[in-house]
Amino acid sequence: MEKNGLLANAQKQYEKALKYVKLSPDSKKVLSRPKELIEVSIPVRMDSGKLEVFTGYRVHYNDARGPTKGGIRYHPDVSLDEVEALSFWMTFKCAVVNIPFGGAKGGVIVDPKKLSAKELERLSRGYIDAIYGFIGPDIDIPAPDVYTNEMIMGWMADEYNKISRKLSPAVITGKPLNMGGSEGRGDATGKGAYYVIKEAAKVWKMSPSKTTVAVQGFGNAGYHIAKLLHDDGFRIVALSDSKGGIYSPDGFDPDSIMQAKLQKGTVDGVYCKGTVCDVIRHKKITNGELLELDVDILIPAALENQITEKNASNIKAKVIAEVANGPTSPEADEILEKKKVHIIPDILANAGGVTVSYFEWVQNKQGFYWEKEKVYERLQEIMVREFKNIYEIHLKEKVDLRTAAYILALKRIVAAIEAKGTEEYFRK
Ligand code: NAD
Repeated sequence: MEKNGLLANAQKQYEKALKYVKLSPDSKKVLSRPKELIEVSIPVRMDSGKLEVFTGYRVHYNDARGPTKGGIRYHPDVSLDEVEALSFWMTFKCAVVNIPFGGAKGGVIVDPKKLSAKELERLSRGYIDAIYGFIGPDIDIPAPDVYTNEMIMGWMADEYNKISRKLSPAVITGKPLNMGGSEGRGDATGKGAYYVIKEAAKVWKMSPSKTTVAVQGFGNAGYHIAKLLHDDGFRIVALSDSKGGIYSPDGFDPDSIMQAKLQKGTVDGVYCKGTVCDVIRHKKITNGELLELDVDILIPAALENQITEKNASNIKAKVIAEVANGPTSPEADEILEKKKVHIIPDILANAGGVTVSYFEWVQNKQGFYWEKEKVYERLQEIMVREFKNIYEIHLKEKVDLRTAAYILALKRIVAAIEAKGTEEYFRK
């Protein structure tokens, strides 16, 4: 499926929830388009002396529940449609975990692996120069996403502070610990997904030692979820990154794969250039083959649109935990529902990242920092509570978990939009 339908696809997911929620035409209109968006050109002096101009976006989808929140993606395939879709999902994700934020997203069209560390720093600072007026601790708070990391967040926060001539750590989350980052932010997305998978495993009676797992994408989110499940006794039989995957029925220790990936490849600046294909005894598989493996839990943790109408009927997993945003197309959803595959939707499964980002923002605002245990405890409380809420809606309304999550989020968003009055109210 082409990228240009990503926002439309994202909206199809929420349209299924509409008939279960009483909402005014006003709310529907407000939620049909992003609130505001910006496209910027970022001139960067390359090491060669040449000037390159990169295109960047920032989209605020909806801020009814609070300042908008969402990551910044560096990828050659970034498009406005993709950023809009991701900002739409952020709006619903923040509502699912009931944190006081709306949804936003940012992106720059760039292959960051082709840039030197210095070029990357200039690009990151240039992006902030360009969107400076569009973000702020009480307006819109960026965070990391694909191919951006805590060092990049540090450069961006520093640039914002330089322009404003004051320290505003709450403007960006996912910062290094020594620049006001939160304990537990690094593995928050993985931890959040882990808490949810554990709850789901209880309901579906899956014991770790008898459960096999395949993880697509071995970055921040994918590595941590693989490690947490492995440490808990689940068997991680397949892993992949952008260059391909590995499979072993005996299972892998994600830590040794990460070690090997770091050693075998070169850690060049802020990016690892190794690939999980280069290491230990295994069968090499493609990313496509990984998705179709006969495993209990499949975890897409890379990019959107990995499971589509083309491969959905070949999926053998019993459970799909969407750690990536938007890995399953609406057409694939229909096919998987008929096959009775349980999908733990992205707006719940990967919400741990934004939840701990919220904790970071709170700590920055208070100037009072929490112990790691406190962060995990509060994260677990939220993830378990909202899994249970969604599961209850799933049983009560007889809908899939994705629709149940949208019902829960939509009710919360609509309540905030309609608190200011609706057509019905003003007609009286
Ligand atoms: P990352 O940059 O740390 O890692 C991305 C990984 O995906 C890398 O291992 C890369 O090699 C791999 N990859 C890229 N293209 C691929 C392809 N075509 N097939 C297989 N693997 C591929 O990014 P991340 O932060 O881990 O994000 C991964 C996903 O999780 C994204 O969808 C992102 O939006 C989502 N997510 C991340 C966070 C977070 O806190 N990091 C939070 C919520 C959601």
